[in-house]
Amino acid sequence: MMNKLALHWRILIGMAIGIALGLAAIVGGFGDLILDWVKPFGTIFINLLKLIAVPLILVSLIDGISNLTDLSKLNRIGGKTIGFYIFSTVLAISIGLFLVNIVEPGNFLPEETREELRMKYASEANLKMETASAVEDSGPLKVLVDIVPDNIFGAFSSNQNMLQVILFAFLFGIAMVMTPKATILPVKQFFSGVNSVILKIVDLVMRTAPLGVLALLAGLIVDIAGDDPASAVDLFKALGIYSLTVLAGLAFMVFIFYPAILTAFTKIKYRAFFQGIFPAQMLAFSTSSSAATLPVTMECVEHNLGVSEEVTSFVLPLGATINMDGTSIHQAVSAVFIAQAFGHDLTMLDQLAIVLTATLASIGAAAVPGAGLIMLVIVLGAIGVDPEGLALIVAVDRPIDMCRTIVNVTGDATVATLVASTEGEPVGGVNQDQLTNES
Ligand code: ASP
Repeated sequence: MMNKLALHWRILIGMAIGIALGLAAIVGGFGDLILDWVKPFGTIFINLLKLIAVPLILVSLIDGISNLTDLSKLNRIGGKTIGFYIFSTVLAISIGLFLVNIVEPGNFLPEETREELRMKYASEANLKMETASAVEDSGPLKVLVDIVPDNIFGAFSSNQNMLQVILFAFLFGIAMVMTPKATILPVKQFFSGVNSVILKIVDLVMRTAPLGVLALLAGLIVDIAGDDPASAVDLFKALGIYSLTVLAGLAFMVFIFYPAILTAFTKIKYRAFFQGIFPAQMLAFSTSSSAATLPVTMECVEHNLGVSEEVTSFVLPLGATINMDGTSIHQAVSAVFIAQAFGHDLTMLDQLAIVLTATLASIGAAAVPGAGLIMLVIVLGAIGVDPEGLALIVAVDRPIDMCRTIVNVTGDATVATLVASTEGEPVGGVNQDQLTNES
């Protein structure tokens, strides 16, 4: 990888070529050629992402949960950790919802474009709206009833049933923890092996991202602009404002929320904290993967911040799997942005559904590049928006992924420091001299 151009650069180049191609097609009048010969590769890329969604969630959740055997031993640390993880996740989603509802990036698309998008995806959207109103008609607990599948193959058969798959994975993982170790050893090995294979598939799919993004962008521009290049400009404006909205939420977490938590509950200075975990943040930015960054995060938190191994070895791997505040913000902003772009009005109930499903989605998202984008399928499904809407944001996802992974890793490090501090460990008080040398 190192000797070639890094993936994010290739994706950026893919974006640039896609945009240039799309604009050239509008000006040169060869839009149909793009739609016939280029756009299908974008559809293939999206299909590949959707294809791995169910197996990825199923296996990574089962593997993650079944590793929690020590939870009973570490129940106090475990309780604090999980409690805070859930709190920060829900808070992050709420921040995302607050920002996107105020900024309304989707409404920067002109009315006609939104109408076009709505018509384009109308058939499926209508179906979903019918389902949605059927849900509303059948009482408040229908949502709960729908989460419980009556046939597991039914649940696996559609990406819209992702919550059912998550529930099954939870059940399976918890049952594994409750079964004697010797009995389930082969099952555990099986799932951890399959998990590695699936993560490899994600890696392979992400390698096709430069081409996928190129095709998607070129197709999107031709699709939306039609004969009117001005509407392509509107699309970029909307995408730019959407990206800034996500970035504002991410910045809030890193520069306001985490410092506030550290100041309130620990003795560590935020500057020292920031310096200590800087290497992990940079690696998160360049790999877009909290899992790949995990060894460095552990090293930084342990050696630079002085948190004990007992805490880091439990809090950080768990956090890399289930605590993704950056991903949470991204889920909330993206779901509402796509809904706005499709002219799909969201009720209060829809916003609540986003909080619930985005929490589950960020817990279920694997700590690898692009996982958050895939999990968005769940959130969109829950609010009755066509998952094809991912096409709108996929082109800008990689740079956003790089930034949200920084937040994911910083959140984990914050909780590790917080837990260690409440356990009476002298965090931040040790190894301060090393900080300047190491970072
Ligand atoms: N790339 C993120 C991570 O590894 C997950 C995501 O796609 O949001 O933390």
